[in-house]
Amino acid sequence: MTSAIRFDNSYARLPPRFFEPTLPTPVSKPRLIRLNRELALQLGLDPEWLASEAGVAMLAGNATVEGSTPIATAYAGHQFGHFVPQLGDGRAILLGEVIDRDGLRRDIQLKGSGRTRFSRGGDGRAALGPVMREYVISEAMAAFGIPTTRALAFVTTGDAVVREQFLPGAILTRVAASHIRVGTFQFFAARRDVEGITALADHVIARHYPACAEAENPYLALLEAVIAAQAKLVAQWLLVGFVHGVMNTDNMSIAGETIDYGPCAFLEAYDTDTVFSSVDVNGRYAYGNQPSIALWNLTRLAETLVPLLAPDSAEAVERAQAALGQFGAQFHAHYDAGLARKLGLAGSDPADDALIRDWLALLARHEADFTLSFRRLAQAPSSAEAQAALRSLFGADAQFEDWLGRWQARIEPEQAAETMRRANPAYIPRNHQVEAAIAAATENADFGPFEALLAALARPFDEQPQFAGYALPAKPEERVLRTFCGT
Ligand code: AMP
Ligand code: MG
Repeated sequence: MTSAIRFDNSYARLPPRFFEPTLPTPVSKPRLIRLNRELALQLGLDPEWLASEAGVAMLAGNATVEGSTPIATAYAGHQFGHFVPQLGDGRAILLGEVIDRDGLRRDIQLKGSGRTRFSRGGDGRAALGPVMREYVISEAMAAFGIPTTRALAFVTTGDAVVREQFLPGAILTRVAASHIRVGTFQFFAARRDVEGITALADHVIARHYPACAEAENPYLALLEAVIAAQAKLVAQWLLVGFVHGVMNTDNMSIAGETIDYGPCAFLEAYDTDTVFSSVDVNGRYAYGNQPSIALWNLTRLAETLVPLLAPDSAEAVERAQAALGQFGAQFHAHYDAGLARKLGLAGSDPADDALIRDWLALLARHEADFTLSFRRLAQAPSSAEAQAALRSLFGADAQFEDWLGRWQARIEPEQAAETMRRANPAYIPRNHQVEAAIAAATENADFGPFEALLAALARPFDEQPQFAGYALPAKPEERVLRTFCGT
């Protein structure tokens, strides 16, 4: 069938042990609920074709289009610190790659498309709720300007999936720079397959980090590039209050995109110990632990690359350690600069560190809403009303008043207001709103709240009076403090 999609599948040209050719399992009654037309155009795909019967058949896994070579990829990973030598795409199938408008290679993958060789006990399917959750949160991250996998579309399948109850099934079409993970390297390392690691590293360099090929030691340059990308990514997460929730090594992308939106959620009250995931009982992946967990994961990546870094293993380990040693400073540089932007601090002043620290301490002590506090602060210099709204978050607190005085003396109001407006979203995917949108869809087949939430989040930095409610934290009775993988 002609598909108007020009697939080019470089991953499927890697050695056979990297993947298993696997066709999606057809579903009963595919229905396209959401198509991301803008993203389709960016990928050079025809949105009309995608919405056609043939397009929907592809998005549902009911038909394989010409040029697609569907595969399930192999990977391993540390889950909550425990190594599992074989995970792999248990419910995802890579249809192929396309070259987008900017010349970048992007994976097109179905998630929830049926069993594969890697499914272990699972059914290979996804429920509507988690699919909607991934769609809305990944698209919000993209609108924040944070590297992420994207959501091209989702269909409902007409089939139920069995979780704790029967739920409507759905399939997400996920787009990524690639789906190569730290766990992909670990898969080969666990098998002492140095040839495999080398082939994978060469593929990654050519695809994501071509400048590394010119370096004196390309594999060391690759490790450094991945470390730099993750240091920046995790800083960006913290700056919007994002808690990934399941930073297992199989959920860390080598290309530096946010991937695998399971139990992720955003902070409301500022508390660095915040955990949402119901399965993260020890708080391993708490908000404030994310930088150290990223480094832990990168250390696992470095271990896999040791055989490639130098002929002498002691020398190789030393190089890996030196590269990992850069992570802290890189993370802090991004995080501190980001906080300075969020507070409208131009240039640098010796008192800035204390100003930033004291602000965060005030947020923590008052359990103030992270997003709303920064946003109201941004508006405070320009209006008495906004100042009153800001004060209402802190009550009568002399320390807050003192801080506000110091901050106002430090900033240049007009310039700060503009910087802050662009650094502090008004709208984030608040957990209770995401859950309400999922409940309306799951219980009443009403996708109205989901569409409204998507519309607000498409322009997160712009005030949109019709969406003012989405800027507010959950009322006590609306709070959703636990999130579930839904797998
Ligand atoms: P995740 O927690 O989503 O990162 O998934 C961890 C592993 O479990 C991956 O290998 C997934 O492919 C697999 N998995 C998750 N859900 C399912 C499912 N419903 N059926 C089969 N495999 C699954
Ligand atoms: Mg995963």
